[in-house]
Amino acid sequence: MTEVFFRFPVHCPICNQEWSSSRTKSEIVDALDNNKPLRVYAECHDWHWDLSATERSDLSLRIRPAA
Ligand SMILES: [Zn+2]
Repeated sequence: MTEVFFRFPVHCPICNQEWSSSRTKSEIVDALDNNKPLRVYAECHDWHWDLSATERSDLSLRIRPAA
Protein backbone atom coordinates (compact mmCIF):
# COMPACT_ATOMS: atom_id res chain seq x y z
CA MET A 1 0.00 0.00 0.00
CA THR A 2 1.32 3.38 -0.97
CA GLU A 3 1.23 6.06 1.68
CA VAL A 4 0.84 9.58 0.34
CA PHE A 5 2.62 12.10 2.51
CA PHE A 6 1.18 15.58 2.72
CA ARG A 7 3.34 18.50 3.84
CA PHE A 8 1.79 21.53 5.46
CA PRO A 9 3.12 24.67 7.13
CA VAL A 10 2.82 25.21 10.88
CA HIS A 11 3.76 28.30 12.84
CA CYS A 12 5.54 28.24 16.17
CA PRO A 13 3.07 29.54 18.78
CA ILE A 14 5.89 31.40 20.53
CA CYS A 15 7.80 33.18 17.77
CA ASN A 16 5.59 32.51 14.73
CA GLN A 17 8.42 31.00 12.71
CA GLU A 18 7.16 28.73 9.98
CA TRP A 19 8.04 25.04 9.92
CA SER A 20 6.71 22.32 7.81
CA SER A 21 5.10 19.21 9.11
CA SER A 22 4.10 16.11 7.25
CA ARG A 23 1.68 13.28 7.82
CA THR A 24 0.17 10.70 5.61
CA LYS A 25 -2.90 12.00 3.86
CA SER A 26 -5.07 9.26 5.38
CA GLU A 27 -3.86 10.15 8.87
CA ILE A 28 -4.77 13.82 8.42
CA VAL A 29 -8.20 13.09 6.97
CA ASP A 30 -8.89 10.60 9.75
CA ALA A 31 -7.86 13.12 12.42
CA LEU A 32 -9.93 15.93 10.90
CA ASP A 33 -13.02 13.78 10.43
CA ASN A 34 -12.87 12.06 13.78
CA ASN A 35 -11.82 14.96 15.95
CA LYS A 36 -8.47 13.44 16.80
CA PRO A 37 -5.61 15.75 17.79
CA LEU A 38 -2.88 16.48 15.26
CA ARG A 39 0.43 16.94 17.04
CA VAL A 40 3.01 19.17 15.39
CA TYR A 41 6.45 20.46 16.31
CA ALA A 42 8.49 23.64 16.02
CA GLU A 43 12.26 23.15 16.19
CA CYS A 44 13.03 26.76 17.09
CA HIS A 45 11.50 26.37 20.55
CA ASP A 46 11.52 22.59 20.76
CA TRP A 47 7.77 22.94 21.12
CA HIS A 48 5.03 20.38 20.53
CA TRP A 49 1.37 21.27 20.33
CA ASP A 50 -1.94 20.08 18.93
CA LEU A 51 -3.33 22.05 16.03
CA SER A 52 -5.95 24.60 17.04
CA ALA A 53 -9.42 24.71 15.51
CA THR A 54 -8.24 27.48 13.14
CA GLU A 55 -5.16 25.53 12.11
CA ARG A 56 -7.28 22.44 11.56
CA SER A 57 -9.67 24.26 9.27
CA ASP A 58 -6.75 25.73 7.31
CA LEU A 59 -5.31 22.26 6.93
CA SER A 60 -8.68 20.89 5.93
CA LEU A 61 -8.89 23.43 3.10
CA ARG A 62 -5.38 22.55 1.97
CA ILE A 63 -5.97 18.86 1.86
CA ARG A 64 -9.53 19.02 0.56
CA PRO A 65 -9.98 22.14 -1.56
CA ALA A 66 -13.64 23.04 -1.89
CA ALA A 67 -15.11 21.18 -4.81
ZN1 LIG B 1 9.68 29.46 18.00
